[in-house]
Amino acid sequence: MQVFNNIQDLKPILSQKKEQGHTLGFVPTMGALHQGHLSLIQQAHKENDDVIVTIFVNPTQFDNSLDFEKYPRIVEADLILLSNFEKKILVYLPQLKDIYPNGITSKHFDFGGIENEMEGKFRTGHFDGVGTVLKSFFDLLQPTNAYFGEKDFQQLQIVKKLAALEKLPVNIIGCPIFREPSGLAMSSRNKRLRDEQLQEAAILFKLLSTVKNDFGTKNAKELTQWVEKELKKSKIVTLEYFEIADENTLKPIVNIEKNKKYRAFIAVFVGEVRLIDNIALN
Ligand code: AMP
Repeated sequence: MQVFNNIQDLKPILSQKKEQGHTLGFVPTMGALHQGHLSLIQQAHKENDDVIVTIFVNPTQFDNSLDFEKYPRIVEADLILLSNFEKKILVYLPQLKDIYPNGITSKHFDFGGIENEMEGKFRTGHFDGVGTVLKSFFDLLQPTNAYFGEKDFQQLQIVKKLAALEKLPVNIIGCPIFREPSGLAMSSRNKRLRDEQLQEAAILFKLLSTVKNDFGTKNAKELTQWVEKELKKSKIVTLEYFEIADENTLKPIVNIEKNKKYRAFIAVFVGEVRLIDNIALN
């Protein structure tokens, strides 16, 4: 593992590898690494000569300052996990000024409307922040392949749009959701949950699995009402949104069309911690 704290030190190493014809796999993270992140890194490992992992809690993608302040930051533990990989990993912990040389602000992007659905509705400016930080990373690192989890499915679609819009020479690769034995999707934010909250949060995957099972026999309205009713019973988990949407447009389903793919998406609060999850339905 080689750790870089600024772009000046990293640039010559990346240029050297490029000259040698190496492919570079890029896994952007906000740290507090878990098995979900590691699964992305493993895939990047298999498919590239070199892998770069970034750890950066990006201020511009947080619409809620409390969420930003309380986001778990445990870089030392992260580095121990990253040092266990067989091949050497490049780890980049950027300075704010590497990413935001002209001040901490977002650019505005037009992602064709998908930025206004779901997460975009509930987290103002979130995808402008995501687009800004990733455009900056892609420009600095020039990776061959970049890996993103389906856990943040809307983000994955946004990044694909970003790469197309900006004509970036990078392949965007989606990776499956890694879950706890309870079914709860792994998330850095889970570290903020107490035991009782963690147990109750497993309801998300149970609800999504039932929705997947009933999709096609019950319509979207019935399924949505059922999810709302089930979550009203919980004193610990509060629903923010549940939606069944077209995977490509991310617009709510109207009627099931044969050649389209659909997913169910959910966002909840467990105490002050916000969790999201989703499942492919067909
Ligand atoms: P984050 O550190 O939360 O920004 O996540 C960094 C990357 O890891 C993103 O592409 C996430 O979608 C992905 N990721 C986070 N949790 C999981 C998970 N449970 N399974 C698969 N990928 C994940």
